[in-house]
Amino acid sequence: MKKHNFYAGPSILSQYTIENTAEAIRNFAGTGLSILEVSHRSKEFQAVIDEADALVKELLDIPEGYHVLFLGGGASLEFAMVPMNLLAKKAAYIDTGVWAHKAIKEAKLFGEVEVVASSKEANYTYIPKDYTIPADADYFHYTSNNTIYGTETRFDPVSPVPLVCDMSSDIFSRPFDVSKYDLIYAGAQKNLAPAGVTIVIVKESALGKVARAIPTMLDYRTHIAKGSMFNTPPVLPIFSALQTLRYYKQLGGVAAIEKVDIAKAGKLYDAIDDSRMFVGTVTAPEDRSIMNVCFVMKPEYKELEKDFIAFATERGMVGIKGHRDVGGFRASLYNALPMESVDALVACMKEFEAKH
Ligand SMILES: *Cc1c(COP(=O)(O)O)cnc(C)c1O
Repeated sequence: MKKHNFYAGPSILSQYTIENTAEAIRNFAGTGLSILEVSHRSKEFQAVIDEADALVKELLDIPEGYHVLFLGGGASLEFAMVPMNLLAKKAAYIDTGVWAHKAIKEAKLFGEVEVVASSKEANYTYIPKDYTIPADADYFHYTSNNTIYGTETRFDPVSPVPLVCDMSSDIFSRPFDVSKYDLIYAGAQKNLAPAGVTIVIVKESALGKVARAIPTMLDYRTHIAKGSMFNTPPVLPIFSALQTLRYYKQLGGVAAIEKVDIAKAGKLYDAIDDSRMFVGTVTAPEDRSIMNVCFVMKPEYKELEKDFIAFATERGMVGIKGHRDVGGFRASLYNALPMESVDALVACMKEFEAKH
């Protein structure tokens, strides 16, 4: 039976990425060796990281003065690296969920943190809009897509200070203005590659402004100077990331991808809104994520949630159980998920509803 992969992360990758990665595990770039066993200093791998760097810059229209880094440690390490490298006195953060909260916790180790707003009291079912970013902050940090709750900020916030963004779960799903940002980071396992590499896009002029000592490995300047090869980078995830980037370029780039993503999410939200049984968890329609669609059963059908998971699983749906903090269901519709899978889920919801 065909599987429809709605996992939130690690999550679906394009067939192009999977096939080319499988082939490179057998024979990488005609070397007769596996990508798993070649030096990261080989000319063949250098070509991989160079092309990946160029494609990130091209797809996201990154201006001069920025560097693209391929680092280890996940987005969670960036929660600490960002303030260590950028927070001189004070930073502003918005609390839109567990990931944002974790970023705030780390930033507090390095200086004053002003949390401008939080939607914690409503279990993060909306994104606060009414707040002021202090003009004396070194940067304003936000999480563009709140993977767990299905809320998303699909525009660059207006801010008197440079932006820093955790784009782990929606990078490459829309164009954005990089010049407004000092730094953007994204773990690969939501929209790009297997877990193990984190993309960091950093403005060179934002660095070197803090007085503290920074351990060599945690200093962005180390990785800039060495082209992400200060130490052994995550070779295989970078190779897979390159395949996905090539695939994104073939699709016509992020603006073309965004159109399809909006159509996919629109179809599922329409089905939820038209249903007598299901209801979305995000309270403000403009905050609805096009990457992670969260929904539950209405109170009168609540006891059928387990049955629906079983019903959907029998029909090939994988990974639709909601995060434990939200419950119900979460369908992640990352770039590589085909419309066909959304259609299958919608059909499954309608069939279940008709039966009950
Ligand atoms: C998954 C996720 C993280 C955590 O990423 P790790 O690579 O596991 O550290 C952080 N932020 C967001 C928005 C995420 O979706």
